[in-house]
Amino acid sequence: MRISIVGTGQLARLMALAAHSLKLDVSFLRLGDDDYSSVDGLGRVVTATPTRTAVGLYRDLGRPDVITVDRESVDIDLLKSLQAFCSVDPAPEIIELTQHRLKEKYWVAHQLNLPTADYLYCDDGRSLFEAAETLKFPLIAKSCESGYDGKNQWRLNDLNTLESCWEQIVKTEAIVEKQVSFQKEVSLIGVRNAHGDTRFYPLAENYHQNGVLVSSEVGINALPDKLAGDAQNYLRALMSSGNYVGVMAMECFVTDKGLLINELAPRVHNSGHWTLTGSATNQFENHLRAITGMPLGSTELLAPTAMVNLLGVTPGQVHLVGERAHVYDYHKALKPGRKMGHINCSLSEPWRLRQWLDQQLNVVYGWEEKRVAS
Ligand code: AMP
Repeated sequence: MRISIVGTGQLARLMALAAHSLKLDVSFLRLGDDDYSSVDGLGRVVTATPTRTAVGLYRDLGRPDVITVDRESVDIDLLKSLQAFCSVDPAPEIIELTQHRLKEKYWVAHQLNLPTADYLYCDDGRSLFEAAETLKFPLIAKSCESGYDGKNQWRLNDLNTLESCWEQIVKTEAIVEKQVSFQKEVSLIGVRNAHGDTRFYPLAENYHQNGVLVSSEVGINALPDKLAGDAQNYLRALMSSGNYVGVMAMECFVTDKGLLINELAPRVHNSGHWTLTGSATNQFENHLRAITGMPLGSTELLAPTAMVNLLGVTPGQVHLVGERAHVYDYHKALKPGRKMGHINCSLSEPWRLRQWLDQQLNVVYGWEEKRVAS
């Protein structure tokens, strides 16, 4: 069986490595002049250009049985045209919803009535100032499209900050949402196959800096069962409403009043990389099992696990703390802040893992117990 992955980044790499161990053939659809060093040598790489037809791409990809994605920013028309030849999972219609913050929020908050931060849509100066008046500072403005890892986001603390950046905001279509004072950020990774079988991993606690994930941990702090139960109910509702096939990630804020859904990713997710060492079946393998019609693998937690992202740091040059740390190298050229790899560590005792995480973060970034959300 052959799968093709649209995109050539680290998620494509990690999916391809899982595919090889499942004895699946892999090819990649490279978008434009995207870097493909992460997947070099792992399968055929075909470049999509505006003049190439879907039938030509399908043939060059080696006539895959199923096509999947390593990102949500893909050309939806291209995905839909490839559906004429094989299945495309997750469905392009769901990927399209998650490409646009307003469409995604509308689906989550209005169609499914699930909890999110209060928000309003703004497409000019007047609607922006009215949103600020209605929702009240502090706020965050986010462009509807092309916003990830904290890009195209503006923190609006008062009228002065709003006035200093309103032109930038209205140049893009945006939503303005209430800045949530959260206790923690968590994410839930779920997987669903075409028969509707669904499994969930344990909730991961995530630490971001400037909107970028720095570390995830599972099993260090005991989280209330209700939190995991609510998160699973929300993600189950989202996945079944779209007859979703594959892995989906849901990022949430934990507040005094419970969970608020912040963002969805219709794909394997950075906050699920811990599953490579911490789970009976990792998220990459489960995604492939779902899209190829194999039975889903167990999502059981094997041991408390933490993951440290290597941002702008060469994986081969990092000192690994302790003998249980494993480094994953994405084979990319070094650039400041770039996701170059990650380190996982699974340890049976939560307090030792907490110690490991603090020490490893200190070694990589020079932080001393500085896991604070920003
Ligand atoms: P996003 O691009 O929506 O995933 O946001 C990136 C990060 O910015 C999140 O993980 C949070 O740390 C922070 N953030 C986003 N939206 C909000 C919000 N409404 N309130 C507080 N922090 C937020």
